[in-house]
Amino acid sequence: MHYFRSFALLFIFLILFLLFKLADIKAIVIFIAALLIAKEIVQVLFFLRLEKRVFQPIEALKSGVDEIAKGNYNVNIKCEMRNEIGMLVVAFNEMARKLEEGERIKTEYEDNRKALIANISHDLKTPITSIQGYIEAILDEDGIPQENKKRYLQIIHHNIVYMNELIDDLFLFAKLDMQKLHFQFEKVPIRAFMSDLTEEIGLELEERRVQFLYTDKMEQDLTVRLDGKRMHQALMNIVGNALKYGPEEGLVIKAELSKQGDFACFKLSDNGPGIPADKLPKIFDRFYRIDKERTKELMSTGLGLAIARELVEAHGGSIAASSEEGKGTCFTITLPFTE
Ligand code: ATP
Ligand code: MG
Repeated sequence: MHYFRSFALLFIFLILFLLFKLADIKAIVIFIAALLIAKEIVQVLFFLRLEKRVFQPIEALKSGVDEIAKGNYNVNIKCEMRNEIGMLVVAFNEMARKLEEGERIKTEYEDNRKALIANISHDLKTPITSIQGYIEAILDEDGIPQENKKRYLQIIHHNIVYMNELIDDLFLFAKLDMQKLHFQFEKVPIRAFMSDLTEEIGLELEERRVQFLYTDKMEQDLTVRLDGKRMHQALMNIVGNALKYGPEEGLVIKAELSKQGDFACFKLSDNGPGIPADKLPKIFDRFYRIDKERTKELMSTGLGLAIARELVEAHGGSIAASSEEGKGTCFTITLPFTE
């Protein structure tokens, strides 16, 4: 830079020297005036360029920072420059986007937490109120018939069993949510695993006079990384639903294992009442129950499928449901194969 300046000064002196030697004073004055005007014009152009390329983006960045300080993360600064300031603006926009996403997740989490507390309070309040009512009845009426007393105690017992189940589910769900549930993953040959598990399920269903059919369509013996106990639990939540919501007589549950590319695909279907299409996307949400009144008698917590989904996803797999009203429901679990 210094060399360049010294060279420019030398060059100006040389021109002045030549002018004084070769031209008259009027021409020199005109030349110097023209030089000064040209310098001013160059300076103005330079500042205009500086304004557009540096000052304006910095001003926009400053107002963006002010917006973020106010808690408004929805800022996106426009800058077409490809220089360092342009890169800074791109980085700033990315930061604002990440902050906005973080804020969205935080709000969603907060809303979920509030809904969870509201649901738990409601689901515990109902059986507690019922227990309180029956105990008061037993205490108040000194001479109530033995038969009534027994019925009241049965209702109290029913409610306590429900509360116990709800607390177990909540405890499991909270652990899954906080990723504190310890899984004991093992490399398991999936055909052998499903064959054992379905045999066990089949025996249990046979006792309840439910028809159970299992088909293994997998041709190779491939392994899956899974925690047997947890997978058993996820599948039992689905089978439990088929039993709970299916017909008392003539219930048929079918299971099928197949290979779908890099995944083991396990399908469980029933010939129960089915789920309406508009309700289907919600069944994996926690506390979601289609028929709130009926599920009360059935001691439902609405956590069964939410837990099953968390468990399957912890295995790197996925769970989906399809259904036709009046015909039945089919749950599909896919689990990635491992080496
Ligand atoms: P929980 O399993 O915690 O005791 P739940 O059975 O109500 O309670 P989920 O298992 O999560 O909760 O099921 C959510 C809802 O989806 C159920 O309330 C029921 O309405 C519906 N559902 C689930 N499986 C079936 C099925 N096989 N057939 C018909 N409806 C079903
Ligand atoms: Mg259930």
